[in-house]
Amino acid sequence: MVDTQRDPTRPGSPAGQQHDAPAQPLAIPEADDFWQGAQRGELRLQRCSVCKHAYFPPRPFCPACSSRAVESFTATGRATLYSFIISHVPTPGHTPPYSIAVVELEEGPRMMTNIVGCPQTSKALALDMPLQVVFRERGGATVPLFEPARSAP
Ligand SMILES: [Zn+2]
Repeated sequence: MVDTQRDPTRPGSPAGQQHDAPAQPLAIPEADDFWQGAQRGELRLQRCSVCKHAYFPPRPFCPACSSRAVESFTATGRATLYSFIISHVPTPGHTPPYSIAVVELEEGPRMMTNIVGCPQTSKALALDMPLQVVFRERGGATVPLFEPARSAP
């Protein structure tokens, strides 16, 4: 009923929705720490020093209280599956079928990603299933993806 399509002419429209190109690092200073962390195998988030809100994607101010007192930190890499679809459309860097997912990080932020390391079927993927981050090369960048969490040691 509700048309949720975004107006692409609006400045606030997210740029990460296009599927016609592999993921590329965002060319903003706040994103440097995220991409450099990914190369080290670390999932970097930002947190507000004032209200302690953790958020993603990176930006120079807190989305909760607008404070510019923000810091980066390394996330645990643990997440749960918040939502997903299975895509059957071939795109550069993706061989169908593949999942397009939103995961909820242990620290709170949600992130669009792919689930890997398991069959790309709605049987293998279940909402709220525990996940852990893995890093893969894609389109010339190291990107965080998620796979089903292994059992605790
Ligand atoms: Zn804040």
